[in-house]
Amino acid sequence: MSEQVPEQPQQAPEPTTVEPEPTQPPQPRAGNGDGVILDLDDIHTYYGSIHALKGVSIQVREGEIVTLIGANGAGKSTTLRSINGLNRPREGTITFKGKNITGAAPHKIVAMGLAQSPEGRKLFPRMSVLENLQMGAFQRTDRAGIREDLERVYSLFPRLNERKAQKAGTLSGGEQQMVAMGRALMARPQLLMLDEPSMGLAPIFVEKIFEIVVEINQQGTPILLVEQNALMALDVANRGYVMETGHIALTDDAKVLAKNEQVRKAYLGEE
Ligand code: ATP
Repeated sequence: MSEQVPEQPQQAPEPTTVEPEPTQPPQPRAGNGDGVILDLDDIHTYYGSIHALKGVSIQVREGEIVTLIGANGAGKSTTLRSINGLNRPREGTITFKGKNITGAAPHKIVAMGLAQSPEGRKLFPRMSVLENLQMGAFQRTDRAGIREDLERVYSLFPRLNERKAQKAGTLSGGEQQMVAMGRALMARPQLLMLDEPSMGLAPIFVEKIFEIVVEINQQGTPILLVEQNALMALDVANRGYVMETGHIALTDDAKVLAKNEQVRKAYLGEE
C-alpha cells in the first residue's frame, strides 16, 4: 500500500458532462521493483466541464528521459499540472517514489523531490539571476547542500555565473530558460519535469538546452520532458508517449517512435 500525502481542498467544479472513456493502447505496467519513480494510472483531469485528460497512464523509471509529445492542446501541460499538484485529477492515481501524491499540494510535491521548469519560464523578472536560483531552494535548510547545488548549476550553465547579478527580465530567452532549469535543479529534484524548454529559442540555444538535458540526466536525474520539438525530444529520450486529445495514442522506445510513420507525418512534418 502506498502512503497517502495529505490532500489539498478540491477546487475544480463538478463536470456537467462526462465523455465516454477512449480506449488506450495496452501498455506494459511495472511495479516499484522495476525502478518506476513516477506512475500515472488512468488520470482524468478537468477544467470545469472540459474533460482535458481522459485516462492517461505514464511511467518514468530511474535513469530515464521520457518525453511526452503531441500537438497543441493535446493535454501535455495538463498532464504536468496534474502531477505537480496545480490541477487535481478527478480520477486515477499518481504515485511518486511509492507514495500516492494525487491531489497533494504543490509545495509538498516539490519538497518530496519532484521539481518542474514551467512552460514560459515564469521567472521573477526584477530579481537577479542568483535570487531566482535561490527561490528554487526556498524549502531547503541544508546550506552546504544549497551551495553545492548552486555550483552544480553554474557548472552546467557557466553563463549564469557570469550574469548572476543581472536582473532575470533582461536576459535573452535562452538564458532565461537556463535560469528556469537551474531554479528547478536548486530543489535537488529526484525527478525533473521540463515543459517545452526549447520554446521560442534560437536553434543554437535549442541544441545547447538539449545537450544540458542529457547532461543533467547523466548526472543521475530522471527527466519527464514535454516538447513540441518532437524530433529533438525523441533523439535524447529513452522512451516516448504520443498524446492526442487527452489520451495516450502511442508509446514506445524513443528510437522506434522516431521511425514510426504516423509520428513522422504528424509531428516531424513529413508527407
Ligand atoms: P500546448 O502545447 O498548446 O500547451 P498542451 O498539449 O500542453 O498544448 P493543454 O494546455 O494541456 O495542452 O490543454 C489540454 C486541453 O485543455 C485543451 O483542450 C485546452 O484547450 C484545455 N485547457 C487548457 N487549459 C485550460 C484552462 N485554463 N481552462 C480551460 N481549458 C483549458
